[in-house]
Amino acid sequence: MIVLKTAKQLSLIREACAIAAGALEQAGKAVEPGVSTAEIDRIACEYIARHGAQPTFLHYEGFPAGACISVNDEVIHGIPSHKRIIGQGDLVSIDLGATLEGCIGDTAATFAAGDITPEAKRLCDTTRESLFIGIAAAVAGGRIGDISSAIQLYCESRGFSLVREYTGHGVGLKLHEEPSVPNVGKAGMGPRLVPGMTLAIEPMVNAGSSAIKRLSDGWTVKTLDGSLSAHFEHTIAITPDGPAILTAS
Ligand code: MG
Repeated sequence: MIVLKTAKQLSLIREACAIAAGALEQAGKAVEPGVSTAEIDRIACEYIARHGAQPTFLHYEGFPAGACISVNDEVIHGIPSHKRIIGQGDLVSIDLGATLEGCIGDTAATFAAGDITPEAKRLCDTTRESLFIGIAAAVAGGRIGDISSAIQLYCESRGFSLVREYTGHGVGLKLHEEPSVPNVGKAGMGPRLVPGMTLAIEPMVNAGSSAIKRLSDGWTVKTLDGSLSAHFEHTIAITPDGPAILTAS
């Protein structure tokens, strides 16, 4: 069932989203060669706690940290570690959530550690741009497939591929709510977009093939061919006046 949020809930979700956005910005600033992914996680969690919220991902289905940090060919769900030291030219995807009085904001971005290759930059730019193109398609009266199709067409036109197995999702009162928001699909298909919906839209884009594998740690998802992957995510609200980005920094 798709839960439409009340004005009161939307206002709390908006606050949670602002905290998540601030945490992501702080964590992103810490990305540089020589820093461990555990240190980046600590910075994100500290920011969230300092603002009176909780890191949504911590202990979610047993996840051991507050942020997912995925490097280079890791797509999503990387587990922060003191042993994982970021190198020059790495792509570092940080995904986190903040929970405030039971209301949740979910956001992600891929950051460059030092100088990255032109191809890595093009992958990041395309993924970020596709997120905003998907958001622009999230118009009341439209369909979820309008978002999916916009993201897919843009990324594939630039020669990249989209992960199928993981999708965006409803969010707000739970981390993962209905509906699912796939990054591939057909315009005009899927659930109707209605004011009061809050959605996490999150293209996961691979430089090579779309195929992925999950590591034996039970969490980390990598590209099967070892190619780079990027991930950007915003929580948005469907409003009568168009999509509102709640996790904008
Ligand atoms: Mg999400």
